[in-house]
Amino acid sequence: MLSTRLTGVAASEGVAVGSAFVHVTHDLEPEREKISESEVEEELGRFRNAVETVVKKLSATAEEMREGGSEKEAGIFEAHVEMAEDPEFQEGVEERVRDLESPEAAVISVGEEFAALFAAMDDEYMAARADDVRDVASQIATELMGGGAVGLESLAEPSVILALNLAPSDTARIPKGMALGFVIAEGSKTSHVSIMARSFGIPAVVGVGAAQLEDTLGAKVVALDGTEGYAVADPDENVLSDFEQKQKDVAAEAALLEEYKHAEAHTKDGKRIEVGANIGSAEEAEGAISWGAEGVGLFRTEFLFMKRTDLPTEEEQYQAYREVAEQFGEKPVIIRTIDVGGDKDLPGVDQPDEENPFLGWRGIRMCLDVPELFKPQLRAILRAAPYGKLRIMFPMVVDNVELRAAKEILDECRQELKNEGTEYGEVEVGVMVETPAAAIRAGDIAPEVSFFSVGTNDLVQYTLAADRGNERLTRLQSADHPAVLDLIGKTCEAAREAGIWVGVCGESAGEPDMIPKLVELGVTELSMSAPSIPRAKKIISEL
Ligand code: PEP
Ligand code: MG
Repeated sequence: MLSTRLTGVAASEGVAVGSAFVHVTHDLEPEREKISESEVEEELGRFRNAVETVVKKLSATAEEMREGGSEKEAGIFEAHVEMAEDPEFQEGVEERVRDLESPEAAVISVGEEFAALFAAMDDEYMAARADDVRDVASQIATELMGGGAVGLESLAEPSVILALNLAPSDTARIPKGMALGFVIAEGSKTSHVSIMARSFGIPAVVGVGAAQLEDTLGAKVVALDGTEGYAVADPDENVLSDFEQKQKDVAAEAALLEEYKHAEAHTKDGKRIEVGANIGSAEEAEGAISWGAEGVGLFRTEFLFMKRTDLPTEEEQYQAYREVAEQFGEKPVIIRTIDVGGDKDLPGVDQPDEENPFLGWRGIRMCLDVPELFKPQLRAILRAAPYGKLRIMFPMVVDNVELRAAKEILDECRQELKNEGTEYGEVEVGVMVETPAAAIRAGDIAPEVSFFSVGTNDLVQYTLAADRGNERLTRLQSADHPAVLDLIGKTCEAAREAGIWVGVCGESAGEPDMIPKLVELGVTELSMSAPSIPRAKKIISEL
């Protein structure tokens, strides 16, 4: 087979070569719509076999999860088994096949019908099951179409994953060590699949476009270079030896950066810059420390619970925050309160369909409206505070009206804990500056907080009116734009006047070209995906 080269956005550095795994999304198209009368019995048999195969795979995954101590995740797969075996679902499909519909078309249609029934239920938990039904139906349909594709969660061989797009919840489902790299049709450097890839040190090329990706779906092996931003499907000998050399170069650079990992970063004129990590789960804390993180500048708490199908309890959140606080000890950990909406769904939260989700009900807006979501998290953070140095940060804040409302709820939580006699600790409060409004009026907000952290990913998209996930807008997805730099400068000025510090936790914090500019503007803390830390410290120490 001929090699095919795909170019896209260099979203997470590093190189990888491995077997291709195509992630099928829910918008699966059946290969055939109709069958003939004489094929009915045979097709019914194929349908039953496909169900059996999918059930076997799902059961094996559930068992593996249970053995690995992941009870909750095991439960999800067991529920999927029940859905696949549901007699009503099976009868629905068989009836359509008897009416001469192809089994793959029938599975997709019946799956959609069931999903719609779930989605219409008043009960939030049941409504969230719609996606599970679609997931199961698409696995059976894929099996029928001979793809034999398994869900991401049961990926058993380390592979390069090709997909139209990956939602954060998809990425979270991939077993540890099974993703060698990502090649994604949609997205940009700051879409969440890219952020997660960088956190886990997985090379990624995104925004290659659906047409380019479709041409390579039959590839057996894929090589990708996430630093340069291209991938090669079915690489020939020359490409493979080229990639071997690249892998050696990556290892050599890592060795060179080793000495910076655990050192403090000072500029040549003595300015101390703290370099922290962005994390999305308690399990990432240990790795972050080993990369040299001097704290956590952004704990994306919504990622913590994306593998689940329901909302985490206060107790579960408390355990997670306490674990991170204890691991970092004296080093600060900034916990950002749940930031769902935009491109991030949270199973268990009833989110309406919106025309413009990034301009919609997200971040602090949702939290202020849903105290059942917000209060358990605030209580959990306060309870975990005595075990380390925790700080709270509110996302998407636009003005003091929101900030004060959030702080009031935080006070209420403190009061409740006090009245109950539950142990809790103090936390500093900061806000993310990620809306132009917050940056322009940073002077109003600064006196009411202990710190600012600039979320350049969103600040860029809202300032330049450019969707952060749109692969056609690469030029407008960088913080290195005078309009954005002005806003960061304004934020730093307001902070200086109020005597508070400013950090950056958007992806630009780890970009070699941006670090000098941010430091010059007055930023004193940078938080990034952990593997970027050693290089950032080297750059700072050479300023
Ligand atoms: C940001 O917007 O820059 C940010 C750090 O938050 P997120 O990427 O999670 O939206
Ligand atoms: Mg943001």
